[in-house]
Amino acid sequence: MAWADKYRKLKVRTNADTPADAKKARELGAEGIGLCRTEHMFFEEDRIAAFREMICSDTVEEREAALEKILPYQQGDFKALYEALEGCPVTIRFLDPPLHEFVPTEEADIKKLADAQGKTVEQIKTIIDGLHEFNPMMGHRGCRLAVTYPEIAKMQTKAVIRAAIEVQKEHADWNIKPEIMIPLVCEVEELKYVKKVVVETADAEIAAAGVTLEYEVGTMIEIPRAALTADEIAKEADFFCFGTNDLTQMTFGFSRDDAGKFLDAYYDKKIFENDPFAKLDQTGVGKLMETAIKLGKPVNPALHVGICGEHGGDPSSVEFCHKIGLDYVSCSPFRVPIARLAAAQAAIANK
Ligand code: PEP
Ligand code: MG
Repeated sequence: MAWADKYRKLKVRTNADTPADAKKARELGAEGIGLCRTEHMFFEEDRIAAFREMICSDTVEEREAALEKILPYQQGDFKALYEALEGCPVTIRFLDPPLHEFVPTEEADIKKLADAQGKTVEQIKTIIDGLHEFNPMMGHRGCRLAVTYPEIAKMQTKAVIRAAIEVQKEHADWNIKPEIMIPLVCEVEELKYVKKVVVETADAEIAAAGVTLEYEVGTMIEIPRAALTADEIAKEADFFCFGTNDLTQMTFGFSRDDAGKFLDAYYDKKIFENDPFAKLDQTGVGKLMETAIKLGKPVNPALHVGICGEHGGDPSSVEFCHKIGLDYVSCSPFRVPIARLAAAQAAIANK
């Protein structure tokens, strides 16, 4: 639609965690992928065993050996993702969830893991118990995993860069420029630390392959402190992507998994009009987003900014994103057509 293209500034990217999602997203008009949640690739039958070995390792060497097994799978998935996107941007987010989400619960699976690692069932159970957290969503997750286990970020960087180099070689006319996204940053020093691991690994891979490849390292803005210190964070980030699922729960102080239990009472009593996880809270969460953009852009004028929380598929939230100057919204593949329409309408309305 020429009229829409003429006026639209905000691009719709999609959230796609697998190559199949990415294909669907492209069919539905997505101009890139704004969020690939890499952990979804680990749950598949052929990888989960190695991933569990990685979690239950006692030493860096053991962990690296398990990660070596995962690397080819992850590289293959990233390659398929780049192929599905035919040169359009793909933002790959590094491991985010707490590790206990991956460990076995069935006795037979615990035994299998123990045997694979030469450990006893009791030893494995002790490791699993040690992963227990009272508030996992505010616990050992996001970039905190890469700070404690930089070898995970190294493996993921190798997989991204090797896949990108392969696809670029096979498709010289595509512009493959990996975007690596670090989740749950709340302090610039965290990003600096993880970025250094990523850059050293990526540059070594590119040099070893004897090619030139540009890549970007950016961060999610999904903790209020990150939004409020965005001028510091922007010095280290090529891009920001608002993770409004976490940003909403951290701003309201209630969990997206538990809010369902009391939100109906809030609607009945007219305290809330909408579910803030579905429709962006422009007053509070939106103010943090605007603050982050206002602080970040002057420090780093090349900074590009998007949103990849579920709000990216909600028309009124898309309009707000347009208004505050975002470059793209990213949402689930099936919501891409609605988000594109909302972006086009917002562009015309604001003309
Ligand atoms: C978010 O927090 O908005 C986000 C996209 O990340 P996740 O939902 O995977 O935490
Ligand atoms: Mg998040």
